Amino acid sequence: MVLMVFILASSAAVSAKSFADSENHWAKYSIDFVTDEGYFVGTSDQTFSPNEKMTRGMFIAVLARVNGADLSYFNYSAFSDVRATDYYSSAVTWAYQNDIVAGTSKETFSPSQPVTREQICLILSNYLHHLNSGDVADERENKTFYDDYKISKWARDAVYEMQSYGYLVGDSNGCFRPTDNTTRAEAAVVFSRLSGQFFETYKVVQTETTVTTDKVPNLDKASKTLLGSYRLTCYCAGCNTPSGSRATACGALATAGEFGTVAVSSDLYASLGAGTVLYIEGVGYRTIQDKHGNTANVIDVYTGDGPCTCWTNAMSGKICNVYVVK
Ligand SMILES: [Zn+2]
Repeated sequence: MVLMVFILASSAAVSAKSFADSENHWAKYSIDFVTDEGYFVGTSDQTFSPNEKMTRGMFIAVLARVNGADLSYFNYSAFSDVRATDYYSSAVTWAYQNDIVAGTSKETFSPSQPVTREQICLILSNYLHHLNSGDVADERENKTFYDDYKISKWARDAVYEMQSYGYLVGDSNGCFRPTDNTTRAEAAVVFSRLSGQFFETYKVVQTETTVTTDKVPNLDKASKTLLGSYRLTCYCAGCNTPSGSRATACGALATAGEFGTVAVSSDLYASLGAGTVLYIEGVGYRTIQDKHGNTANVIDVYTGDGPCTCWTNAMSGKICNVYVVK
């Protein structure tokens, strides 16, 4: 039996400055831009950690770099939970003194908390008003988000202001997801747009290749070893991040159907590896392509291009026996 699967190759030459963990990332163009500009620094020489959460402290540190603010006047802390030695301390004080941030209480800034999408909108709106450029003519038509009711009152005007500039937009289902956290990659996209750079999603080119590794089982002789019981979740291009994209977190393109894509926990991914074929009772054969966070006993099944029915899909939430196929 011969199986056709997709092997990925990048569509553009990788620049010398690229981080190893961002070479095939959907936000690669923005990541390259914000690091070339010196707005972001990597989490190490080799890594950008695109899928890690953007914290409030990080976000303000980047905003101060984008502004080019002279922080030497702000080398003290304005909040009890920010130490003057923290790398973002001067930036937070600068932002506070310029009415760009107000803190999470009178005394606290909560610098290690992830920054939410609606918080980003308010910070950027305050920032634009600080620059006196908040009355930029609206270029895009404002549409009310389906989850408008979830937007906090204090953020509502700012959310629609950012929508009108195209800096933060909704997902393909028309939702804004105001209280969702933001990854470093998503923040890189926002800061690129703030600088006038509206990059397309980085795409990887597919070439069809015959796989001959021993990971593809001969189903006639295949043996199945019970791995355990796993709760399934479903995702499609419509509810993926970025919405409309088939790219998984690792940058590979997900495939639906028999031998299609599943993502497993980091632990399972480390022990089984990409390309391992699983047999999921009630679903069929699926191939490990990527990992999700590290939620044990959960397997994410890719269901296709949409329209999104992931929340009502009969497979979603189901607990199934899962076998490793060899
Ligand atoms: Zn979906």
